[in-house]
Amino acid sequence: MSIIALDAPGKELLLMGNEAIARGALEAGVKVCTAYPGTPSTDIIENLASVAKPMGLYVEWSINEKVALEVASAASFSGLRALCAMKQNGLNVASDYLLSLNLIGIEAGLLLVTCDDPSAHSSSTEQDSRPFAKLADLPLLEPSTSQEAKEMTKWAFALSEEMGIVCLMRGVTRTSHARGNVTLGPLPSPDGRKAWFDKTRQRNTHPVYQKHDQLHRNLIRLEEIFAASPFNQYIGPERPKALIITCGSGWLYSQEALELLGLEDAVGVLKIGTTWPLPTTMIIEKLEKTPKVLFVEEVDSFLEGNVKELAADFSGQIGPKTFFGKRSQHIPFFGEMNADRVIDALGKIFQVRYQARSPRYEAQAAEVAEKMLPSRALGFCPGCPHRASYWSIKNALQLDNRQGFATYDIGCYALGRGPAGYYLLKTGGAMGTGTGLASGFGKLASFGFDQPVVAMCGDSTFFHAAMPPLVNACYNKSNLVMVILDNSTTAMTGFQPHPGVGRNAMGEEVAPVDIEAVCRSFGAKVSVTDPFDLEGTKQKMLQALEDPVGAKVVIMRRQCQMLKGKEEKLPYQVRVNPEICIGDDCGCDRLCTRVFKCPGLMWDKKLAQARIDEVICVGCGVCADICPEKAIIKEEIR
Ligand code: SF4
Ligand code: SF4
Repeated sequence: MSIIALDAPGKELLLMGNEAIARGALEAGVKVCTAYPGTPSTDIIENLASVAKPMGLYVEWSINEKVALEVASAASFSGLRALCAMKQNGLNVASDYLLSLNLIGIEAGLLLVTCDDPSAHSSSTEQDSRPFAKLADLPLLEPSTSQEAKEMTKWAFALSEEMGIVCLMRGVTRTSHARGNVTLGPLPSPDGRKAWFDKTRQRNTHPVYQKHDQLHRNLIRLEEIFAASPFNQYIGPERPKALIITCGSGWLYSQEALELLGLEDAVGVLKIGTTWPLPTTMIIEKLEKTPKVLFVEEVDSFLEGNVKELAADFSGQIGPKTFFGKRSQHIPFFGEMNADRVIDALGKIFQVRYQARSPRYEAQAAEVAEKMLPSRALGFCPGCPHRASYWSIKNALQLDNRQGFATYDIGCYALGRGPAGYYLLKTGGAMGTGTGLASGFGKLASFGFDQPVVAMCGDSTFFHAAMPPLVNACYNKSNLVMVILDNSTTAMTGFQPHPGVGRNAMGEEVAPVDIEAVCRSFGAKVSVTDPFDLEGTKQKMLQALEDPVGAKVVIMRRQCQMLKGKEEKLPYQVRVNPEICIGDDCGCDRLCTRVFKCPGLMWDKKLAQARIDEVICVGCGVCADICPEKAIIKEEIR
């Protein structure tokens, strides 16, 4: 069981920001927790799921973020506190309901946590969730430390109940995944509360304009509450030469930068934890006392724009200011924040130089790193079934010879846009987009379009957002081939289950949803293949490509190697026969290491031969089938 359920008030634990949010929710008496997995938010629900049964919670991986918010809302309407978590892309999906829920209102506290991914380490977008709070006229909180994440979470439930509206909290990768000391508070005793929906009250958006008006009046009340919030804090001199206004991860980076530059006595830092609506009086009071303002925030200039709006409204009172931030290009518009970026901005404003390391040391370190670190392209794991799937699809499209291409959505298979997928993926974007785009391309024949289109989709993505575009394709008689790469998990985010797996977030056995039967029921022609059967998979693809009528679905089913490897022994001992493999001279053009590119295959420069890296090869045996010289030998391990 996760340490987040430890019943030890006053004890200090080292917790990740996401663990602290989960702990805060427990201390607040949360009952229902929902999410669709997405880095960097996933650990919040994983932690809550691990304590669900002993703590009397209901936790679910919903099929997408909009459904997650709807399930959490039902709990809130029934008097149970609920938490819903997602990453920034997920909020786009949930926003359709969020922009009604703001008007509908809630009963018991409802907290919506979104975790943004600055630098897009594990995302298809670098997107700021915060404008959604402004768009929906809802309160927004941003923690800076793990302790604050826990306290804010607790407070957010109370705030949500007091105002009768959902409360938003935004984390970023560094606040979600960094660890910090957290002092535990008490866990509430079981209250035996019965869930109950009061049907004398209609919960809908009407009358819309009156409820919209109420949202704006809420913002005035929220400003008053936020003016007294301990999550907004100032450190620095009474009348600083410059003021940093920051939030989230920027709070610690700003303090570090000032310390390193020795500017603590000259520059103040105003940390805003309640970033929408802004605590106006506090900000205006600080602006009055400084001539210069620097904004430090990730990703967009949300604080910057909103504070400048305030400054315009109060210009007579605060006088002229010089603003620095993203718009002045003192802080980059993209990428994660760090102390170096703040140092660089302050250095330009105060004309000071800071050199953490000598240029000579930097050059030496770069040289050593280049020599010692092996270069590694983004690719699939050794033995990944997706590599084999892409191999067969590539060969089928080549044989088909009509300039076919593939579309895609979000998932580990999206690596197919690079060498790992032989550059097959040409356009994609959001969840389900691959099939939606293919549905469109598949209707262009009357305009002379004659290229085959293959929509790549994952099994979890199928349930999330790819069923509606497949229905669209079937209904509108679009000509496409949809490939569902069914690896029986949500692999990219850490192997969460989905409806096709037969297990839910609570660890219960459930009847798996049959993807094949679902596709057939829509009217698609369906075939199933094992991607490690390279020839059989290629033939299934060729048959689907040759069929000019309607939607064809090819399910390429094999469990993710990362899971399979935990449960099963290596199937094959694989080696390269040095007598047959003569590399460049045998006419294969080093197909195994230049094109197929499993990381378990190496090119031995000295011997001018291919070699198996026994440390990482998982013995799947697929490479034995791609070597044209039959130089790779696989022997079954008994
Ligand atoms: S193992 Fe086969 S494909 Fe790889 S270099 Fe040797 S002969 Fe060529
Ligand atoms: S058997 Fe070949 S394809 Fe499979 S993991 Fe080992 S090197 Fe890679």
